[in-house]
Amino acid sequence: MSSLCRRSGHMETLTKPAPPQETVRAGRPLVIAAVRAIPVALPLSKPVRMSGVTIGHAYNLVVRVETKGGDVGWGEAASAPTMTGETLSGMVAAVEGVLAPALVGEDARFLPTLISRMQHAIYANTGPRAAIEMALLDLAGRANCVSFADLLGGARRKSVSPMWLIGNATAADDLAEAQAKYREGFRFFKLKIGVKTPDDDIQATLMLDKALPSDSILCADANMGLTRESARRYLGGIAGSRMLYVEQPLPHADLEGLAMLAGATRIPICSDEGIHSIADIEANGRHGARGVSLKFIKLGGVTEMMRAAQLCDRLGMAVNVAGKIAESGIGSAANIQFSSAIREASWGVSLTHVYLDADIVRDRLEIVDGRMAVPAGAGLGLEVMEDRLRAVTMKNWSTV
Ligand SMILES: [Mg+2]
Repeated sequence: MSSLCRRSGHMETLTKPAPPQETVRAGRPLVIAAVRAIPVALPLSKPVRMSGVTIGHAYNLVVRVETKGGDVGWGEAASAPTMTGETLSGMVAAVEGVLAPALVGEDARFLPTLISRMQHAIYANTGPRAAIEMALLDLAGRANCVSFADLLGGARRKSVSPMWLIGNATAADDLAEAQAKYREGFRFFKLKIGVKTPDDDIQATLMLDKALPSDSILCADANMGLTRESARRYLGGIAGSRMLYVEQPLPHADLEGLAMLAGATRIPICSDEGIHSIADIEANGRHGARGVSLKFIKLGGVTEMMRAAQLCDRLGMAVNVAGKIAESGIGSAANIQFSSAIREASWGVSLTHVYLDADIVRDRLEIVDGRMAVPAGAGLGLEVMEDRLRAVTMKNWSTV
């Protein structure tokens, strides 16, 4: 890459090749001096209703990795007790008590070694491990003037198509929100189902299908909130709609039910809560899932996400890349960078910073013509505002 990057992390294009000393500098050691766990409470613009839970704040772990030379990298993982089993207090404890001591003194350039150290240091804890790996890649990218996507093999596309999640009490409210977001530029909509009755979910889906312009895409996510019977009823009721896929209609362990549903509808089924590993993707695929939703916090890191995406490619399964509701610009930038680098992401990208009242990064990632651009710059391509970060840092997280 014919570019240098300033210490701020922004890249500038050169008209002549980088001087030789830059090559030498790029190879310098990146000895980890500190891995800090920062628990934050990010207020949502409005509470989000999903099957089983209403969310008003996002309680997330932000990770800051610093080297002895002063290089910094940022990572983030949402606490998601119902999805990963992790509470914020447990995530902080995992970083401070186990993962940071395993990494301090190691060289951040040797990522596979560090991933292995983390895997051996603690079982599960996929959120904390993912946040740290994200920060290590951000750090390595900044230190070497290349983007996060470049470290994953390079961006295949300059922008991604983010989706807007809809989940209101009534179908009329769902429609009004979708139309407003269409006017803002969103073209990909995911309707949260499984909270209303199946008939109301059918009504909301058909209203959206009828009213949204033809260039918009529609999918639905039940978050395990349906029974076999209600799922069959819902899928039958929306059979004539443009529905691209229905996500996790049944509890994650009901693979037999998944196979029955998949065999009874032409609408593809996506697995989300059922996917925590490569083996889960294979199992859900064997039982009829035609795509998966991938999240860093479930797979436990960026490298494992890449393995998962490559497996989906091989199996002919579609991929949705998703942040948990809600993540700051750190998590969203990682999702955009990752989505730009994988071959298949046709089931959309859920970027969840759009549900926050305020972000902790300087330049909020904005939607333009239905797409969000891959942030330019080294690493994740963003600047964390440490004063804003301090304002949302929790003083007491023991009960979260
Ligand atoms: Mg989902």
